[in-house]
This record gives sequence, structure tokens and C-alpha cells, in this order.
Amino acid sequence: MKVLVCGGAGYIGSHMVRCLLAHRHEPIVYDNLSTGHRQAIDEVPLIVGDIGDANTMRAAFGQHRFDAVIHLCAHSLVGESMKKPYDYYQNNVGGTLCLLNAMREAGVSKLVFSSTAAVFGQPSTPLVDEEHSARPINPYGASKWMVERILADAAPAYGLRSVSLRYFNAAGADPSGDIGESHDPETHLIPNILRAALGHSSSLKIFGDDYPTKDGTCVRDYIHVNDLAEAHLSAIHFMDKHDGAHCFNLGSSNGFTVLEVIEAAKRVTGAEIAFERASRRAGDPPVLVASNAKARAHLGWSPAITNIDDIVRSAWRWHSQARY
Ligand code: UDP
Repeated sequence: MKVLVCGGAGYIGSHMVRCLLAHRHEPIVYDNLSTGHRQAIDEVPLIVGDIGDANTMRAAFGQHRFDAVIHLCAHSLVGESMKKPYDYYQNNVGGTLCLLNAMREAGVSKLVFSSTAAVFGQPSTPLVDEEHSARPINPYGASKWMVERILADAAPAYGLRSVSLRYFNAAGADPSGDIGESHDPETHLIPNILRAALGHSSSLKIFGDDYPTKDGTCVRDYIHVNDLAEAHLSAIHFMDKHDGAHCFNLGSSNGFTVLEVIEAAKRVTGAEIAFERASRRAGDPPVLVASNAKARAHLGWSPAITNIDDIVRSAWRWHSQARY
């Protein structure tokens, strides 16, 4: 298959590209390199453009005949989205419409959309399944939810087949150690912990220790980035047999507190990791853990790496020798 990977030079995108190559498919990357890295995709063809640039997007579809599109371009920081909501709706919703129009014009009818656990807002159950109501509590989650709604309308109107994958917390890195997570500024927990272990940052902050959880810190479901990538391939195969718009929660069904992740990083790195307790970060729900039963049943997918130490170890291999 020839697959357009929008946002393919980013953290999840670069692992997606590796996964497609490993399965002997042909990825073409579309990325504006605002947060992505050319080095992360080696010699794979790259089209440099914004997701909302209709001319560049149309030209990409004119140049190639794609079997499917994987759409991972997004602004994705909860805190930033609270401060710059227009940017988030413009890029994540407006940009996606530009891609959808180009797909329709070119007659490409399979899309895997990178959605998020943030569509659920503050879940009312410990294990969140797809039946749980979507009530996002920040513009990032709302922008992803709006796209899911657009995809639901696009199925009957245009015959678009789509799968929205709601990632819980993407984590870890390819075992090769030569691609991984690299954001500037870095806001995510595991990279920040590992940067502290390396002495690259002066202080690791824990955002909130008064949540209603077992140790007062937030609980998240960390899912290995290569497991996420495999789920996208399963989603494309699923669309061979199913029309309509579908959504799946992608997680391990296991939650870890911030303090438990720090403990795992201490075991993996052997380093003392100092931290300070800070106030809550706006927009953070206390607990987010996925039920992955639907993905197991319908995509035939299950995560291969579920031990938190193994996930952190793979990230450590990258962070201790990061090349970009
Ligand atoms: N977190 C933290 N310190 C950091 C980064 C994150 O305490 O330096 C917490 C954050 O408040 C959340 C969890 O770690 O409860 C995971 O945050 P991350 O930004 O990695 O992912 P998110 O859940 O926002 O997608």
C-alpha cells in the first residue's frame, strides 16, 4: 500500500513510518517540520507543507495515488490549547477539513485519524470504553472531538471510511534507540523525568499531589508508541471490510501514577531523580485509563509492551543518546 502519513516526521509519525516500512508498505510523509524532524524519517519521501495549505495538499494527491491516509498532524498540548484556542481549532479542525477535501477530490476513501483520550474530559468510570460520553474539558480535546463528528458526517455524505484512534498516553521509543520523542519545549512526563535523570533539567515538577488517587498524583495509561503504530495498520485493514466511521480507545488498560512512573525511571536508570511538588496543571483530569476491549475484539490488536519498566527503558535508550 502507498500511504500518506500526515505528521509523519513527529514522534508517533516517525514510528508509524518505520512500522509501514517493516510491513513492506510505501509511506510518503507530509509534514511542515514545525515540531517534526527530517532525521526521524531517514530517506522516506517528504512533502513539506502545512496541513491547512490547500495547494500543497492538492499537489500531493495529484503526484501520488494513495491507498489510505494516516493523519497525525496536530497541535497537541493541553495547557497551550487553553491559552491559544483559536490556533488549536484552526490547525486541528480547519487543517483537517483541508485534508478531507483533498482526499474527496482525489477519491481516496480510507482515513486513520489520530484522536485522543482528551475527548472524554473527566471520565466518570475508572476504565473508559467507547460508550463513555465525550465531554472534552480543554480546546485540544474539543478540537479532536469536532473532527470525529465531521468524520461521522462524512461517511454517509461522501462514503469516507474512517477510524479514529483515541490514544491514551503515547510513550517509549523504538528499540533501535535511533528515533524517539523530542519536543521543544518538552512538556510530557516520561521525557521530563529522563531529562532530569540525565541532569539536563534543573527541576522536575509533579503537577498536583492532591488528586483523588492512591498517592495523590494523576493516573495515566502509558501505551508504547510501536503498539500504537501497529494499531494504525490494523485500522487500515479493518476498513477493507467495514465502511462508516469508527472509533477505538488505545491503551493498555493499566494506570500508573506520576510517582509510580518516577519509581520505574529510578529502577531503569539507576539515577536518583529529584522532583518538586507543584500545583495542578490546568485541564488535567485525575485519572485516564482505557478499556481496550473493543480494539482487541474488532481490530485484532493488543499491546505487546505493557510493563511500565520496559516502556521507560525503551525511552531511556533514546534519551541517553538522542540524535535530534
Ligand atoms: N506531569 C507532571 N510533570 C511533568 C509533565 C507531566 O507531573 O513535567 C503530569 C501531568 O500533570 C499528567 C501526567 O504527568 O498528570 C501526564 O502528562 P503528559 O503531559 O505526559 O501527558 P497528558 O496526560 O497531558 O497527555
